[in-house]
Amino acid sequence: MAEPVDDANREHANREDANREDISTAHALTSASHRIDELRSTINYHSQLYYETDAPEIPDAEFDALLVELRDLETEFPELLTADSPTQVVGGAASATFSPVEHSVAMMSLDNVFSREELQAWGERLDRRLTELGDQAARTALVAELKIDGLAVSIRYENGHLVQAATRGDGRVGEDVTANVRTIASVPHELPEGAPEVLEVRGEIYMPIATFAALNNAQAAAGERLYVNPRNTAAGSLRQKDSSITASRGLAFWSYQLGEVVGGPELESHHDTFTLLASLGFPVNPEATVLEGLEAAMAHCLHWQQHRHDLDYEIDGIVIKVDDLALQRELGATAKAPRWAIAYKFPPEERTTRLIEIGVSIGRTGRATPYAQLEPVFVGGSTVAMATLHNQDQVAFKDVRPGDLVIVRKAGDVIPEVVGPVLSERPEGLAPWVFPTNCPVCGHTLNRPVGESDHRCLNLRCPARVAGSIEHFASRGAMDIEGLGEQRVQQFCELGLLADVGDVYSLTETALLDIDKFQDKSVAKLLAAIDGSRTQPLARLLVGLNIRHLAGAGSQLLAAHFGHLDAIAAASVEELAAVEGVGTTIATSVADWFGDATNQAVIAKLRAAGVNFEGPAPSELPQTLAGLIVVVTGTLPGFTRDQAEAAIKGRGGKSPASVSKKTTALVVGAEPGASKITKATELGVPVLDLAGFMVLLETGTVPAPPGGTS
Ligand code: NAD
Repeated sequence: MAEPVDDANREHANREDANREDISTAHALTSASHRIDELRSTINYHSQLYYETDAPEIPDAEFDALLVELRDLETEFPELLTADSPTQVVGGAASATFSPVEHSVAMMSLDNVFSREELQAWGERLDRRLTELGDQAARTALVAELKIDGLAVSIRYENGHLVQAATRGDGRVGEDVTANVRTIASVPHELPEGAPEVLEVRGEIYMPIATFAALNNAQAAAGERLYVNPRNTAAGSLRQKDSSITASRGLAFWSYQLGEVVGGPELESHHDTFTLLASLGFPVNPEATVLEGLEAAMAHCLHWQQHRHDLDYEIDGIVIKVDDLALQRELGATAKAPRWAIAYKFPPEERTTRLIEIGVSIGRTGRATPYAQLEPVFVGGSTVAMATLHNQDQVAFKDVRPGDLVIVRKAGDVIPEVVGPVLSERPEGLAPWVFPTNCPVCGHTLNRPVGESDHRCLNLRCPARVAGSIEHFASRGAMDIEGLGEQRVQQFCELGLLADVGDVYSLTETALLDIDKFQDKSVAKLLAAIDGSRTQPLARLLVGLNIRHLAGAGSQLLAAHFGHLDAIAAASVEELAAVEGVGTTIATSVADWFGDATNQAVIAKLRAAGVNFEGPAPSELPQTLAGLIVVVTGTLPGFTRDQAEAAIKGRGGKSPASVSKKTTALVVGAEPGASKITKATELGVPVLDLAGFMVLLETGTVPAPPGGTS
């Protein structure tokens, strides 16, 4: 039974509880206040870099996360909210480089949402406000626009003449960039008859991706530092003292809003604005669309999240606006952003994470490739824990060091990339990374020939090279042995069952059944696949032999010209080089390979195993593609653009530059044209990778996609 507690005791206990609560509230307030100070100063530091120097150090997503943390703390502790908090002000202060321009109508920011739920909550808030204002929520048609990743400007016209252009600055005062904006081709200098007396056109200045790529190519050719992304480059290009530099940068403009307007037609809806802007000669983004209801807006956001890379300019989200201008006025704005609009931000494609270590992997040709081992980070739709660093020069150029906080970028299906370190976060005393002098797998010296960017392990017996070359031999583009992938090859090498590609045909049922957890069925399947590969065409065998510089196109040419592996092995460098499309680099490499005693032993094993050495009759390519149309986009390993075309035409096919509904297949290599892929997908034209292309060349039939059922 509980002890009776007298009143005095109870009161004392209550007081103590209340005291404890007061103390813990005070503690919470103090620690929130510290964190808020810390966040504000970090945010202001990054804002200054972003807005004043156009050279941010951290990805936007990390910046947004700091802002969200600050906003949440200020909501929890409203007594700590101040009017100058970064959550309450727009952008950054105008710099002293340009004359100040006071905006007649404030240029606001946008509130952001990052998920379906947050967008839903915004929609509910909007409905509540409209109901309070006595309006029917059902009337709220919405306009969805792409959120262009550039920088906002306001361009003022008086009596039809461009008189001033200004950046957003802090929303109240921006910078006078008139001379620079005049150099942008798509910005009209004069408006047609009937234009409003005063018209402020607001929109986004941006750099098209193709222009950005060309600019960086020129930088690379001149040995200059590369620009980081189109947005910052656009901002840097616009904020130049010398407007001829701006003129040379190929900037472009989308208009999406009006500021001050005197005269002109009465506008009722936001989409009327677009009609007016287009009639006056301003570029209006064709993807802006009127939608009924939030569900449709959400579907629209998700659609563009999937398709953002189909565009030739960067977008970082979708802006949703109330269409009715009278409602917009009624809804008004907070100190920072209008209540009638919201930006749905796409998941980030750049994040920061810790670089744990830089490793070096050894490929099948002995190439030593440095790679970043990262603390796993979710970016661009998947978790990234590793990214290639390409070669020694790239590591030095990016100056990334183990222990650094680094920016990782993964855009769409593109392979992840380490962009660079966050220098302000670099721990003290972090030493630059040094390329190892020895192969991390076999210990042999790594060699970097003069004039080349790659290091190589020259030890032909290096376990990594051996495993890599066997894996390549069995791959889809070569002998196509299903079931002999990376892990199996690794395992068989470790067990001593494979030492070179010739050993593949000596694998026995008894040896394989001895391996733990290797089931009868899988063993039988693998042996059947190995057996089937004996009859692969000569060109595939040549690819599989892993001869440096010799890839798909060269193999096809040699097989067709010589008609037999022994004839290729016996040919001199001159004879090999005389084959059209085969240069001296390939010829020398092929002759060297066949001259090597170790390789001759491999050929002997393959011969003994009954592998097909015969090619098509000399100089006669089978007309597998007669009547077919094959379009190629991007770079295919082992084929120049001309070689890919020659391979198609040599087999009776056609290879035009664009995709149509008559196209048999679209072959996609590295850095392909997005529009071709979109078109092919729309028209249901099959899309093939290199391995699929090889099958098509040989058989004239479009292979099923990997993992497909047919
Ligand atoms: P915001 O970019 O989220 O939204 C407002 C801006 O969107 C407008 O000013 C306008 O320029 C642009 N916009 C594009 N398309 C539009 C359209 N169709 N309609 C209306 N507006 C459109 O907010 P913000 O206040 O400009 O700046 C914050 C942005 O800058 C965030 O993306 C933030 O991550 C980034 N930032 C990054 C750093 C960094 O260090 N990485 C620092 C500061 C700011």
